[in-house]
Amino acid sequence: MLYPLEFVPVMQDYLWGGRQLAEVLGKPLPDSQRAAESWEVVDHAEAQSVVASGPLAGKTLGELVRQHGRDLLGAAGQSTTERFPLLLKYLDCNRDLSVQVHPDDRYAATLDPPDLGKTEAWYIVDAQPGSKLYAGLKSGVDREALAAAVQAGQTDRVLHELQPQPGDCVFIPAGTVHALGAGLLVAEIQQASNTTFRLFDWNRVGPDGQPRPLHIQQALEVTDYDRGPVDRQTPQAEEGGWQRLVDCDKFTLQKGQGEDALEVSQRDAFSLLTVPAGKATLVWQGGRTPLAAGRSLLVPAVCGGYEVRLDQPGTVVLRIDP
Ligand SMILES: [Zn+2]
Repeated sequence: MLYPLEFVPVMQDYLWGGRQLAEVLGKPLPDSQRAAESWEVVDHAEAQSVVASGPLAGKTLGELVRQHGRDLLGAAGQSTTERFPLLLKYLDCNRDLSVQVHPDDRYAATLDPPDLGKTEAWYIVDAQPGSKLYAGLKSGVDREALAAAVQAGQTDRVLHELQPQPGDCVFIPAGTVHALGAGLLVAEIQQASNTTFRLFDWNRVGPDGQPRPLHIQQALEVTDYDRGPVDRQTPQAEEGGWQRLVDCDKFTLQKGQGEDALEVSQRDAFSLLTVPAGKATLVWQGGRTPLAAGRSLLVPAVCGGYEVRLDQPGTVVLRIDP
C-alpha cells in the first residue's frame, strides 16, 4: 500500500526570497513571483504536505502518519511524536535572513501553542562569490556581550562568520545563533518546528512597511553560550558509499556523490531523499522512482532496503534518517 512518496511543494514567500527555487530547482512559480522556501516534506499545524501522485495522491502527510504510523515511520522514527518529526526544505536566500535562534524541545513545549524545538542542518547547494553566513557566537561572547551588541544594532559583530562553498554542511543545534546570508541556495533539514526568535533584522521593514517583530528576551534566554563558533562539518565515510555529514539525536544527514549506486540495507526506519543537483533513480522492491534535481521523496520504513543510482556526473543526493 505504501510506496516512496513525493509531495506537492509548499512554497513560502518571505521578504528575502528570489527566483532560484524555480530556475535551479524547477519549483512551480509564476513568472513574476518570488519565493523564499519550498517545504518539501512537512507535517505541522501551520503547513501540510500533500501526496503528489500514485494511489495516495491528495492525502496529507499528517493523515498518513495517523493511518500508517508504524509502516511509514518504522520503530526508529516513531518514538518522538504523533506527527512526522522532520521538515525538509529548500531556501533561496536572495537577501540576508534575520539573525535568529531556535529553542530546544523543553523550552518549545512551554510555548502557546506548544511546538517542537528546532535543531537544523544546512547543505549549501549553491553560493554566489563572497556570500556568507553566521553560525554561532565568537569565542568568549556571553549573554551580556550579546545583549549589548543587539542593543547597539551591531549583532553581526559578535557572530562567527563563514564563507561557505557549494557542498558544505553546517550543523545548527537548538540554541545556536545563526543567519544565512544573501546569495545562498540551501537544503535544510530540521525538526518539524516553526518557532524562531529573531534577534536582529538588519533594520529592515516587511511588505507592510513595518519592522518584523523581534523576540530579543526569548532569544537571549534560549541561546547556548557554551556553543561558540560553528564551522563546516567534516564528512565521514559510511557503508554503502555514503558520507555522513551530521549525526545528532534528531536525525542523521548523509550525502551520496560520485558513486554509481549507493546502498541502503534493510532496516526499520523511514528515509527522506532529496537531489540538490543532477539526476538519480531510487530502486526499491516495488520498482523504480526517478528523482530530478530539486525533487524529494519520503521512503516509508515498510519499503525496506533500497538503492540510489546516480544517473549523471555531478549528481548529489542527500539522505536523512531519523
Ligand atoms: Zn534557523
